[in-house]
Amino acid sequence: MNPQQYKKFAYDISEWYRMNQRDLPFRKTKDPYCIFLSEMMLQQTQVKTMLPYYDAFIKKFPTINDLANAHQDEVLTLWQGLGYYRRARFVHEAAQQVQSLHGGVFPSNLKAIKALKGIGDYTAGAIHSIAFNQPTPAIDGNVMRVMSRVLGDGRPINEPKTVASIKKIVSNMIVHEKPSDFTQALMELGALVCKNPPRCEQCPIRNYCFAYKHNKQSELPVKATAIKKVHQSFITFLITYQDQVFLIRNPKDGLLANMLACPQYEGNHLDNALAKLKDAYRIDIASVTFLKKLKHVFTHRVWHMHVYQIEVTSPAEPFYPINDLPHAISRAHQKVLQSLKK
Ligand code: SF4
Repeated sequence: MNPQQYKKFAYDISEWYRMNQRDLPFRKTKDPYCIFLSEMMLQQTQVKTMLPYYDAFIKKFPTINDLANAHQDEVLTLWQGLGYYRRARFVHEAAQQVQSLHGGVFPSNLKAIKALKGIGDYTAGAIHSIAFNQPTPAIDGNVMRVMSRVLGDGRPINEPKTVASIKKIVSNMIVHEKPSDFTQALMELGALVCKNPPRCEQCPIRNYCFAYKHNKQSELPVKATAIKKVHQSFITFLITYQDQVFLIRNPKDGLLANMLACPQYEGNHLDNALAKLKDAYRIDIASVTFLKKLKHVFTHRVWHMHVYQIEVTSPAEPFYPINDLPHAISRAHQKVLQSLKK
């Protein structure tokens, strides 16, 4: 496509969006809090999965100040099941920043939006263009897939240089349209039409598309080799006293930060893990029983957990009722806790 066609391209895709957009609650509002929340929830998550969470959040925390005033555990509990809990903490911290730095009013300035916790280039662009109708592109994997096919760009889409160059082209397109519609049009086309495999016969921009013209849809986009997942083995302890379970609080930084968890130690040796456990916590062990092996897959790692149940003679450390666990627990360790019910 040549730059002379950008204006017509922007109109065609935006007009298609205006006629075909899905009936989604966060598409019907320009409230930056709603756009922010929906974009944070949609990272690595499909629309149909996040919708009930979005509705529950908006019901419980109708304004960004309601969210800022909530306790972090309340936020994590409501997020439970959506995964990638770092996003939940970021959402909460960003709300608190909006309250403390901007008097509870979501900032409209791009630099101020980007300065909020957990907001990267893509989310900032989405909020700026959708909520504030500013010509700032929002480039994510969906948009990269669409644009690499349209432009016939064979460079890896997960390399910063390719992203920068496509972002520049999208910046030159968005100025010709209502930015809010154009940004959502690209997102919607990527989600509904230009998928794998693409539905080119339904595509409003096929006349501009290199991949369509040259039958290269299956060759584009190109991705640099994915990073291999790291596999880790753990001895994981499910420590019980009558109908209570012992949980620890994870450190403030790192994977699953600040969440409740079962104590676990990397490696395959039970005796080593038991020695570390006894060293760290004041517990009197009555029995140790192997329960099962469990696997949990994260984005870049896989946990192989060898789960042992330990019964203790008295609850010297903080124990929680098994049937009424009050705080957010990672999905990996929810699976471990379910071992008690089977
Ligand atoms: S014509 Fe096909 S490959 Fe090209 S943008 Fe449309 S759906 Fe994607």
